[in-house]
Amino acid sequence: MFINGRWLSYCEQFPVYNPATGEHLGNVCNASLQDVQSAIHAASDALPAWSSTTAYQRSGLLHAAHECVLQQKEELAILMTREQGKPLAAAKNEVQYAADFLLWFAEEGKRIYGETIPSARPDHRFLVQYQPVGVVAAITPWNYPISMITRKIAPALAAGCTIVLKPAEATPLCAIALFKIFEQVGIPAGVVNLITVQNPRPTGKEFCTNPQVNKLTFTGSTATGRLLATDAAPSFKRVSMELGGHAPFLVFEDADPVRAAKGVSLVKFLNTGQACISPNRIFVHETIAQPFIDTLKQRIETMQPGNGLKPGVNIGPLVNAEALDKVQQQVEDAVSRGAKCLCGGQRLMEAGMDKGYFYAPTLLTEVTPDMLIYKEETFGPVAPIITFNDQDDIISMANDTEYGLAAYIYTQSLSRAMKTFDLLHFGIIGINDINPTSAAVPFGGMKNSGLGREGAREGIMEYLETKCAGIML
Ligand code: ADP
Repeated sequence: MFINGRWLSYCEQFPVYNPATGEHLGNVCNASLQDVQSAIHAASDALPAWSSTTAYQRSGLLHAAHECVLQQKEELAILMTREQGKPLAAAKNEVQYAADFLLWFAEEGKRIYGETIPSARPDHRFLVQYQPVGVVAAITPWNYPISMITRKIAPALAAGCTIVLKPAEATPLCAIALFKIFEQVGIPAGVVNLITVQNPRPTGKEFCTNPQVNKLTFTGSTATGRLLATDAAPSFKRVSMELGGHAPFLVFEDADPVRAAKGVSLVKFLNTGQACISPNRIFVHETIAQPFIDTLKQRIETMQPGNGLKPGVNIGPLVNAEALDKVQQQVEDAVSRGAKCLCGGQRLMEAGMDKGYFYAPTLLTEVTPDMLIYKEETFGPVAPIITFNDQDDIISMANDTEYGLAAYIYTQSLSRAMKTFDLLHFGIIGINDINPTSAAVPFGGMKNSGLGREGAREGIMEYLETKCAGIML
């Protein structure tokens, strides 16, 4: 743990394992409630000095952290593959994405412009200015164990806030490696603090109820987000929530089915399907369903699951046994209700994968609304295909979910693309595009997918309070 500029390792510990091999990677501190409170205290003590630094000073430190992350890209990626499981090439992409947030907010912090507003009185002016929200408590998930941290810490630091971070218990080593960089570049003591803990509940409760915490930012499941938002509500702490998704992927009859299938094969199996923007319901018009399914099946069958450090491997394990069970249960339920399993559909236990949590990349067709996989977020390597025809109200079907994070549209008609874009209730929409994300654009969802946006200009506003002055001349 890193509290008030010092690494603590005297405390009780918990183990970290490689989800591909079961290898024991090491032990990390298991924070006590007292540790959490001292980290919050340190962040609170560091706030006056840090928030009085100039945007240029803060930018300089973020630029240095950005450079350092890029210099250590290879080592960070290897660590990520060992701790989280994604193949090395994907891990490198994530380190790059993580670095992008440091760079983006290093610059964005210099553009926290205020404004003057005309008054109805001639001898009067209004002035609007922004100030840091204060001490930020952040909770991050295991699926993107470095970029989800910089997506929160970079804007918070740029805005002049101080932070206490609790990463996921499955991936604390990535967080530790990143904090070593923050230390190395000279971010002052107490400005960034790291708490590693095996049971997240007491820490979450403390973050939500401690009066020294001004804001909670969370990325994870909708169930946990709801719990935290409820606990934070009585004291009106500011909250940002990036929660679950159940992305529809719409392939209209005028789309190129081969291109669309290639797109799905890339985005659906990214991170073994463990992404909140992963397509979870793939709707294909019946007239082009066959070439779409054939192409997708062909591509799935060439995927190579395994230890992500091995050359050629392009699909990693699931995070743990529970995740594996959930995927298995969804596939069994779908097949028992009439879905066809065209490939995959079982746990992989061959030599080299038997100690990890591998599930075969799977293609299900004839999926219907009564199946669990149609309603629940999957978080696994399963592509469920639903065919539709002109009688179906495809927009209502796509919107028929409690979630509103990502959606994808494949069509060659600009008019249809824009009309569909307008009607879909999702925060991030790819139009013939499987990667509608970047540090420069807002990421976040509607409905039960959360509150607020990360990245872009919006990302820094989440860490600022608005202050208005009326001035008599
Ligand atoms: P997932 O199902 O993707 O693991 P979670 O919401 O359980 O999503 O986990 C995301 C993050 O939330 C992790 O850092 C985890 O430790 C944390 N977390 C889970 N439950 C709680 C809780 N009750 N209070 C605070 N943090 C929690």
